[in-house]
Amino acid sequence: MRAEIIAVGTELLMGQIVNTNAQYISSGLADIGVGVYFQTVVGDNPERIKESLRIAKSRADVIICTGGLGPTQDDLTKDVLVELIGQQLILHEPSMNKIEELFRKRGVPMVESNARQALMPEHSDPLANDTGLAVGVALTHEGTHYLLLPGPPKEMKPMFDRYAKAWIASKMDAVEPLFSVMLKFAGIGESQLEHSLIDLIGAQTDPTIAPYAKEGEVAIRLTTRARNEVEAQAKLQPLESEIRSRVGDHIYAAQDITLEQAVLQLLSEQGKSLSVAESCTGGLLSDLLTNVPGSSASFAGGIICYTNAVKHKLLGLSMELLEGPGAPGAVSEEAARLLAENVLQITGADYGVSITGVAGPGESEGKPVGTVFVGVAERNGETVVRQTQQSGNRETIKLRAAKSALYQLWR
Ligand code: ATP
Ligand code: MG
Repeated sequence: MRAEIIAVGTELLMGQIVNTNAQYISSGLADIGVGVYFQTVVGDNPERIKESLRIAKSRADVIICTGGLGPTQDDLTKDVLVELIGQQLILHEPSMNKIEELFRKRGVPMVESNARQALMPEHSDPLANDTGLAVGVALTHEGTHYLLLPGPPKEMKPMFDRYAKAWIASKMDAVEPLFSVMLKFAGIGESQLEHSLIDLIGAQTDPTIAPYAKEGEVAIRLTTRARNEVEAQAKLQPLESEIRSRVGDHIYAAQDITLEQAVLQLLSEQGKSLSVAESCTGGLLSDLLTNVPGSSASFAGGIICYTNAVKHKLLGLSMELLEGPGAPGAVSEEAARLLAENVLQITGADYGVSITGVAGPGESEGKPVGTVFVGVAERNGETVVRQTQQSGNRETIKLRAAKSALYQLWR
C-alpha cells in the first residue's frame, strides 16, 4: 500500500510554520506497515489543491490531506475533493449539533460559515474530532482511499491516532496482522546509525524501517504484514541479519527495553552487584537504574561526588590529583579510574562505575563542554576508563553521559 501526504496551507509554503503534520503521519503510517512514497505541500488554492490530488491519485493508494477543514473561505479541501470525485457535500448532523451546542454555551450567535465544518462528502465516513469542531473525512473512490484531517496538530494527532489509522488498516488487503521487531541501540548516534543503513532505509518497502530517537537512545522498528509468525520471520529475519552485520555491536536488545533495564538484567543473570560514583551526572545514573522495578537485586548504591571536597573526603582522591599544579584534575582518566575503584572498595559491590565530566554551559579545568570520562572497575578485574565527547545542552549531556556509562557496563 502506497501512501501520499498532502499538507495544505499557504503558511507552510511561505515558511511561517513547519510541516510537523507530515512527519507525524509518516511515522504513524510506518508503525502500521504503510510506506509513504511522497509528501506534498500545496497552498490554499483550489486549482493547485486539485492538481495535487490528481497527481497523488495517479501514484498512491492512500492520500492523506491535512489542513483546510476550518470555517473560513480559504478552507477548501473538502470542496475541492468532492468536485474531483463528483460528489456533493452533505451535513453531518452530530457535528452540526456539536457546533450549535458550543455556540449556545458561549451565548454567541453561530456564524453561518461555522456550519461548513460539519459538511462531509455524501459517500464518506466521518472521523470524529475530539479536540475541535471540523469533522474529518474518510472515503474510497475508484480504489483510492482519501482521508481529510484538520491542520492544527492538536486536532490532527488524536483524529489520526484514534480513527484514521484504524480506518486505513481496515482497507488493507485481507488485513494481515502486523509483526515488528524493535532493535535498540547504544553507543551510536542517530545520524551515524542512519548513515550506516542509508541504502536499506532508502530502499525500504516491506518490511518498513522506522528510526526513533529519544532520551539518549536510538531504536529502529522493522515492521511487516504477514499471515503468521513464521511468514513474518521469513521477511524480518534477513533484514535484521543485514543490520546486525553492520551495526550489531551497538544492539543491546531486540525488544523495547531501556539500556538500564538491559544492564540490570545482565547483572542479575550474573548475580553481580553495581555501585556508582557520579560527579557530573549528579545522581542521574542512579535515578535511571532505580526507576527499573527490582533494581535493588543488582544496584547497591553509590556516592554523588559533585565537588572535589566530596571526591576527596568520601572517595579518597587526593587534593593533589584534583587541584594540584599541573595535576590531571577531576575530569580526567586518573580521577575516573580512582573513583570507580574506590567506590567498589567502599561498597563491596562487584562493579564500580564512575562518571566525571563537563556538563556545561562553560568549560571546566580547561576541558571543553561535553568531555566525559567513564570508569568501570571490576572486582578482581581490570579497570577500564573511556573518554567520550557528548553534545547538547547541560541536560542532554548529563543524560548522554549516564547512558554512555550504561553502555560501557553493558559491553
Ligand atoms: P482551522 O479550523 O484552524 O482553520 P484547518 O483544518 O482549516 O483548521 P488550516 O487552516 O490549514 O487548518 O491550519 C490551521 C493551523 O494549523 C495553522 O495555522 C497551523 O498552525 C496548523 N497547521 C496546519 N497545517 C499544518 C502542518 N502541516 N503542520 C503543522 N501545523 C499545521
Ligand atoms: Mg483553516
